Amino acid sequence: MIVSRIATALLLALLLPVAMFAEENRPVIVCSTTQVADFARQVVGDRMEVKCILAAGQDPHLYEKKPGDAQLVSTADLCLENGWHLEGNDWMQKLATQTGRPIVTCVKGCRPLEVPGVSEAMHDPHAWFSCTNAAIYVRNIRDAVIQLDPEHADEYRSRSALYLDQLRTLHSWIVREINNIPVDQRVLVTSHDAFNYFCQAYGMKSATPVGWSTGKEVGAGITPQRRQETIDSIREHQVKAIFVETSVNPTMVREIAREAGAKIGGELYSDSMGAPDTAGETYIGMMRENVLTIVQSLK
Ligand SMILES: [Zn+2]
Repeated sequence: MIVSRIATALLLALLLPVAMFAEENRPVIVCSTTQVADFARQVVGDRMEVKCILAAGQDPHLYEKKPGDAQLVSTADLCLENGWHLEGNDWMQKLATQTGRPIVTCVKGCRPLEVPGVSEAMHDPHAWFSCTNAAIYVRNIRDAVIQLDPEHADEYRSRSALYLDQLRTLHSWIVREINNIPVDQRVLVTSHDAFNYFCQAYGMKSATPVGWSTGKEVGAGITPQRRQETIDSIREHQVKAIFVETSVNPTMVREIAREAGAKIGGELYSDSMGAPDTAGETYIGMMRENVLTIVQSLK
């Protein structure tokens, strides 16, 4: 017994430095948001190390850079951001520029929805909520990773192809599930305008009291008029349930529900995925759980 323990310890001692060496040599990808980090992991597997600045439940619009962030980004072989100002005041762009690291913007190539009610053209950044756009993110990441490590290009292409198939399956599944909601009940009321791409892709209308960002940017924030319009919408469509978001304070939505006579249908993942070991910890899991919550409350 003791001999075998010593043998195991010796074996571990021999193996450990090799494993650590291999770990240390892996290229590092630093991502801004949890969705982007999940897409990156699907493409690179264990071939690269994927790190994420935002933790589950954190709001990218309001994120304040921490002292360690620049240090983390300075270790990156590649940085990935969502883009279109989802990262409030472009904090990820700034970190990459400040540390001289290359950065890829994942929304590049998506067809933008414009933020309503602002004079200059502004793209709604929540593009990942249509599976078709998520596929564009994945292809952008795949191409950037192949450029970084051309030797393993076939592997990155194979993983991406498998994942893109899963996204296509997810898309068809969402279409089928949403069909269970009566047409006149297909109204999605949440805190902020995160679900416009989702609603466009899957045939729902959206109404929110807060604009495209939870921060103070142009066209964002709550106004009494937007709040009233949301309440009117709920009453007009006799919406049964409205939803809070995991990354946004739920107080206002609860007040609106009370005032408009709707119930809270549950909590949706919006700008952040779920914590590790929850059903929403991946993009596919987050979308699946959201859709089930929405359909269950509105059908
Ligand atoms: Zn948002």
